[in-house]
Amino acid sequence: MTVIKSSEEIAIMHKAGKTVAAVLQRLRREVRPGIQTRLLDTVAVEELKKHDARASFKGYRGFPASLCVSVNDEVVHGIPSARRLNEGDIVSLDFGAIVQGFHGDAAITVGVGKVSPEAQKLMDVTEGALMEGIKAAHNKARLGDISAAIQDYVESRGFSVVREYSGHGVGRELHEDPLVPNFGIRGEGPLMRKGMTLALEPMVNAGGWHTRVAENKWTVLTADGSLSAHFEHTIAISDGEPEVLTLL
Ligand code: MG
Repeated sequence: MTVIKSSEEIAIMHKAGKTVAAVLQRLRREVRPGIQTRLLDTVAVEELKKHDARASFKGYRGFPASLCVSVNDEVVHGIPSARRLNEGDIVSLDFGAIVQGFHGDAAITVGVGKVSPEAQKLMDVTEGALMEGIKAAHNKARLGDISAAIQDYVESRGFSVVREYSGHGVGRELHEDPLVPNFGIRGEGPLMRKGMTLALEPMVNAGGWHTRVAENKWTVLTADGSLSAHFEHTIAISDGEPEVLTLL
């Protein structure tokens, strides 16, 4: 677990976070019908070159790309490929960057052209759930308060939270303790303390919460073939509401 102790360290985390935000903003503009998902990876690497940073995911446990691209029923960890995006698809883009030894990690889901009302609602609810989780992540909160806030927001709107994958501590390592599940019980779990840095990342399915892993051993899909969306920010626990580090 990384606990930020100095203003120098938090400044570096901000820099890593802003780098991730800049890459995702660029990618959002590139998403369009007909584009191959591997071109999005190329664009991410190109954008990263403008910053003094490296991609966190490239080579992580053997992951072959810098960007995760997960389309429609793909939940997370999709590998960029020759696949072309189609009008009406939704595409989740997950990116991490390391600056001077500190990681930032964030994700967005973007509609390709015009999407169905259900797909739009799924994306809106997932982003809303992330914001609820952030609001709950105040100093002295319990981890379960964050998890429950995300779960309640999603389930009361008729969708389900993925349970096999979670948010996580982030900082000196990409994935650190504690796990931050998107479901839980208020008042339970470790106490949040000022300076803790976490990646909150609701993964929300339009159908059931179960997932499966594709033959490539990376891509996670919904078990029932329903759509899935994913939003993520890296935050630092502060005195009041947390600082969101992966913003421009
Ligand atoms: Mg993450």
